[in-house]
Amino acid sequence: MATDDERGATDGGALVRFPLSRTTPAGSPGGFVDLGTGAMARRLGMRTAGTTGRWCSRCRGIWFGYALEVECPRCGNRHG
Ligand SMILES: [Zn+2]
Repeated sequence: MATDDERGATDGGALVRFPLSRTTPAGSPGGFVDLGTGAMARRLGMRTAGTTGRWCSRCRGIWFGYALEVECPRCGNRHG
């Protein structure tokens, strides 16, 4: 029988893990692929702060780029 303590620990783990997770498995239902950081943002030494998450329909994933970046770092798609 699951106790309240066990449920609380499980929920807490999920809440903590989500924003830190950069390793969402590809092809998981409802998930997305983390495509990494755009070339410009990398060159400028930016982390996720100051970058914007962008969707690539070709990779079916999200990458993080600087404000002016539009090119997917994985496949070069510029059309979202
Ligand atoms: Zn792409």
